[in-house]
Amino acid sequence: MSKSPDPVHVIGGGLAGSEATWQLVQQGVPVILHEMRPVRGTDAHITDTLAELVCSNSFRSDDAQNNAVGLLHREMRELGSIIMQSADENRVPAGGALAVDRHGFSAAVQEKLLAHPLVTVERGEVEGLPPAEWGNCLIATGPLTSEKLAQEIHAATGADALSFFDAIAPIVYKDSINFDIAWFQSRYDKGDGTDYINCPLTEEQYREFIQDLNEGDKTDFKEWEKDTPYFDGCLPIEVMAERGPETLRYGPMKPVGLTNPNNPNVKPMPLSSCVRITNSEPCIISLASRPSSNMRNRPAYSVKFRGWKKLSLLALEACIAIPSLTAPKFSMKSCALKRGPTSVLQDR
Ligand SMILES: Cc1cc2nc3c(=O)[nH]c(=O)nc-3n(C[C@H](O)[C@H](O)[C@H](O)COP(=O)(O)OP(=O)(O)OC[C@H]3O[C@@H](n4cnc5c(N)ncnc54)[C@H](O)[C@@H]3O)c2cc1C
Repeated sequence: MSKSPDPVHVIGGGLAGSEATWQLVQQGVPVILHEMRPVRGTDAHITDTLAELVCSNSFRSDDAQNNAVGLLHREMRELGSIIMQSADENRVPAGGALAVDRHGFSAAVQEKLLAHPLVTVERGEVEGLPPAEWGNCLIATGPLTSEKLAQEIHAATGADALSFFDAIAPIVYKDSINFDIAWFQSRYDKGDGTDYINCPLTEEQYREFIQDLNEGDKTDFKEWEKDTPYFDGCLPIEVMAERGPETLRYGPMKPVGLTNPNNPNVKPMPLSSCVRITNSEPCIISLASRPSSNMRNRPAYSVKFRGWKKLSLLALEACIAIPSLTAPKFSMKSCALKRGPTSVLQDR
């Protein structure tokens, strides 16, 4: 009888760690999955569920014919991805995009992993690089890796962590939206055509909004945070407003692909049209995520603007420069990590 393989230790039960665990157990390799929540939290996660989506509930375009992300979705489906299976089971309307009910999605991933006989989930922080006796390990602790482990990775690799501020999108109380003015429509009527709520602004309202953003109170950065750049792909709204009064109306608030049924002959100035409807949060409509009240992220700008619960939230993220630190199959270069074997992929 052939000996069953030694377990692989996967550290981090987020999206990457959950998928990696699933793919390994599908190949008959047992996995010990280490997830620190709820024993220890992060600045952005709010549940103790595996594969929590920390911000947007959108997986972006699902169009495999015309979009690289959609093609990646299809390839992942063909590879039996647990993330795609669970996303498909928990899909919510979002035009041509694949968006999910965030709680149902994470619960589905967790349920499948816990039900698998080769998966063992250990809750608790891994407080440093894995010990040599763990054998093959995969570190998938994401942009909010706990401090002790991040410090050890930093010390072992010698690489400077690249840190940046990423915005968590605002949330809006549904009962603050006036549906005599707002309307349901997806841009260019994609999907079933009514997946988004559009809130039009007149030119005067738009200019006031930009003024509010520019003049509103903002949190001061600590000295060591001052030079930290923003992630340009996900900027806080007040940072976009600072870049010029037209930035938002030519950016995320652009009024294209939409016709206002309440006023069809007048093209509105900008629209905050990215409000996504999720069926799991009936009172609060989430532009992306729903931060908890005890989150340690900084409110960059808490608006008096009616309807906004809180405008931007920021989290400090860290990442490392993968190409300079890893071998072609993404294992850490042996000179960098001396504490034990680190690559599953390389050995198989
Ligand atoms: C504020 C913010 C907003 C973001 N917005 C978006 C977005 O809108 N769209 C998008 O695609 N991506 C967004 N991201 C990036 C997002 O984090 C990734 O897309 C995705 O979550 C990465 O998956 P992951 O598995 O690498 O990390 P995660 O999903 O963060 O999973 C890592 C897991 O490791 C655990 N962990 C950390 N350290 C340890 C340790 N020492 N021991 C044990 N467990 C540990 C954590 O608890 C976590 O569960 C955002 C990130 C942040 C911080």
